[in-house]
This record gives sequence, C-alpha cells and structure tokens, in this order.
Amino acid sequence: MAHPQSALWDEFLAVSARIGGDIGLIQGAGGNSSLKDGGVMWIKASGCWLAEAARQPIMVPLDLAALRARVLAGNLAEAEIAAMALPGGPGGLRASVEAPFHALLPSRCVIHVHCVDTIATAILADAGARLQQRLGGRNCHWQPYVKPGVPLTEALRASGAQTAPVIVLGNHGLIVGADTPRAAEVLIDGIRRLLGGTGTPAMSVMAAPLAGLDGTGYAPASAPGAHDLALSPALRALAGNCAIAPDFVVFFGPSIPILPAGPDLPARLAALAAQPLPLNAVVLVEGYGALIRTDAMRGTQALLTGYAMVLKRYLMNGGGEIRYFTAAECAELLNWDAEKYRQAQNRAEATDG
Ligand SMILES: [Zn+2]
Repeated sequence: MAHPQSALWDEFLAVSARIGGDIGLIQGAGGNSSLKDGGVMWIKASGCWLAEAARQPIMVPLDLAALRARVLAGNLAEAEIAAMALPGGPGGLRASVEAPFHALLPSRCVIHVHCVDTIATAILADAGARLQQRLGGRNCHWQPYVKPGVPLTEALRASGAQTAPVIVLGNHGLIVGADTPRAAEVLIDGIRRLLGGTGTPAMSVMAAPLAGLDGTGYAPASAPGAHDLALSPALRALAGNCAIAPDFVVFFGPSIPILPAGPDLPARLAALAAQPLPLNAVVLVEGYGALIRTDAMRGTQALLTGYAMVLKRYLMNGGGEIRYFTAAECAELLNWDAEKYRQAQNRAEATDG
C-alpha cells in the first residue's frame, strides 16, 4: 500500500508540516492529521511530530471501512486499532490513538490541533456559552472533556458531532474537517482568529542566572516564554495547577512545584528530581524562571511554551473560572490507578512542603 501519488497528497503533507511547525497549534508530538483515500485512511503515527510530515514518512495506512464500522457500532477497543493497519506504511509506527475520531468524521481531511487560543477558552467552566458568543453562527460542535482516544470518539458519536466541520474539545483542543487539507487549514485559521486576541504575549528571559543547579537534575528552560510563568505574579498564581489539558498532565504531572530561591533550593530540587517522571518535570523558581528536569521527556520544552501561551491568552481574554481535571481524570491520563496517584501526590507534597 504505497501512499497516493497526487497533488492532494502533497498538499496534505505540506499543510500538516506547516501546522505542525506552528507552536501556537501543535506542541511536540501532539495533534494529528488524516487523509481518506478510497478505502484507506492515512493518519499521523503515534509519537511522531507533525512538523516532520514533509521530511519523513510519518503517515500510516489504516483500513477505513473496518475502523469506521467498529466506531459506528460503538464497540471498538483501543488494542484492536493496530490490527487495522494496512501493509506498506513506514515500519515500526503505530497509528495515533486519536485515529477513531478521524474515522468517525466523514470529511476527507481531518486535522486535530492543540491550538493555544482554543484551549484558553476550552478550559473555562462556561466554555460552551463563551464559544457560542465568540463563534456565533458557525457550525461548531462543543464537546465537554472526555478522555482522548476511544472514549472521546464514543462521546462525539453519541452527540452527533459528525455533522459539524468544527469541533471544540473541552480542556483539550480543536478538530476540523474539510474536503481538502488547505480548506481545513483555513478553518483552523478562522477559529484561531475568532478565539485569539490581537496582542502578542510577552516572552521574558531569565532575569539572573540561578547558581547551584549543578547536580540537582534541573537546568533552566530554553522554551520561549517559559520564564514568564515564574516572573509574572499573575501567571505564577495560575501556573501551579497544570491539570487543564491532557498533554500538560502527561508531560509535567498534575502540578508544577513553585519554590522560593534560597540556600536550600539545590537540596529541594534534588529531592524533587528523585520522584518518578512526569512528576516535577518542571519547577518554577520565584523571581527567576522555569527549570526543566534534565531527564524530562522529549517535547517538554515545547509543551512548556504552549502552556505559557495558554495561560497568557487566558489572562488577556479576561480570565474566568477554570475547569480543572479531577484527581480521577489525572490518574486516568497518567494510566495510574487512583491509589498510586494519591500516593505520588502525597510524596510530591511532602518534598515540596
Ligand atoms: Zn489531542
């Protein structure tokens, strides 16, 4: 199963790479795009960066009819998706876990992004009403948060989301569907313009170098804008609880410790670095900036830039009550059972105290 040789395929890869290279839309390996071609659905592979789409083969072919039949019947199990892969894709790659909703939606091209301007509204407790105000008149479906993967697809199917070209996912992001990749990209641009603002958020550098980090397991973040999370009092007041979208929890853990700079900082950092990742992957030092664990997952820098952009946009939009994940939702995202989660949180609080 070779990929299609067509102008549409080339456009699909070019649009995927362009969107993947935009930190305001995609951070790290997040987000995905798909193209349906006859009975085949090509979709970004799990763990690959959309930004690489034009340079490397990252799209894997799935049996569209088989996947869609199970999605429509509402009895798909995540483990079955791998068996629906068709031969001819790049070796060793598995389809994105979001493949089921791409199969559910009838559009030829479906693109899912973690658009920071969308997330800044989609984290609000009254996001549904706000979207209606901001996007009024558009055919847009609002989907309150459900765990990504099969559960989210099931919720979209049950609520009839298939008919909408634009779907906003609570505490998560945006899905668009169109007949061509370029038309899907235009839809994303439009939503971003309507939900974003005109001002450009500040991006500060670390005010002064922080001494004594050697051997602590932490280094200053290189992510643009990340230090603002520690330097701006308004951002710092928000930044500790990062349980607002799946990838922030998966990469940073459910919370970000905020420490004062002081003589005991190196010892406290070393204790935080001893916890299992993703706990304490990021630490904010008051008045200095953001630190990232030297063993943090690839993509943590990009996620941190995205996190700072979401919180800045949220403040620039005037704030509002945030809908945070429950402890059970965090545990589910980390594939931890509730008890393991509770114990890890207790340990984190003990070392952070
Ligand atoms: Zn997503």
